[in-house]
Amino acid sequence: MRIILIGPPGAGKGTQAVRLAAHLSIQHISTGDLFREHIDERTELGRNARTHMRAGLLVPDEVTTGVVKERLARPDTERGFLLDGFPRNLAQAQALAGILVDSKLRLDVVLGLDISEDQVVRRIAGRRLCRQDREHIFHVDYSPPDVAGVCDLCGGELYQRGDDRETTVRKRLEVYRTETAPVVDHYRSQGLLTTIAAHGSVQEVLHRALDAIGQGQADAAGTSN
Ligand code: AMP
Repeated sequence: MRIILIGPPGAGKGTQAVRLAAHLSIQHISTGDLFREHIDERTELGRNARTHMRAGLLVPDEVTTGVVKERLARPDTERGFLLDGFPRNLAQAQALAGILVDSKLRLDVVLGLDISEDQVVRRIAGRRLCRQDREHIFHVDYSPPDVAGVCDLCGGELYQRGDDRETTVRKRLEVYRTETAPVVDHYRSQGLLTTIAAHGSVQEVLHRALDAIGQGQADAAGTSN
């Protein structure tokens, strides 16, 4: 299955992407995570990406589509993939269409997460990530770890992302409105979009998501980590 997960920052894309990909046995591909790996490894691409990320801006399209093209070319995507955070503008959507045509692949579904901006700000302010594994995501109110500041899954230290501070969040929301919302409209007009409400518990949203993509009968409980 080939899926795009799309929605504003703070909608819970990362949290749901990990669970959906595990449930469907497909690769979770997050452009934000790919950039953060480059930043950790101190590559030139990472330095370039970091400047834009810190400002709440999009990393330039050539850089982003290059990273995605390389990632999608790896054999582990053969069973399918879930794109999280890509495409974020119409140029990227076109680039993705080109990559898929070249590989004779097509998208199955674009899953949109719907949430108000007020909720976004509240969610992002409380978001905490594990230093050992960025796919371990917590929230101080909605999914708190058993011990504050410590990852339940691996004991790693929890931290707040640099671009999760309020001024950057506002900028990221503005970028979403102007650049990414047209991508949602684009996939709606292609008949690929299905939208779900992103409020509620992680499990509630996961069940909603699985129903929306026609995988609802299966038991989602096993993917709660
Ligand atoms: P995310 O982890 O998806 O919230 O992304 C964090 C940041 O990485 C974004 O605010 C952008 O600066 C950058 N980024 C992630 N995905 C993209 C993309 N598809 N295009 C451009 N920049 C991106």
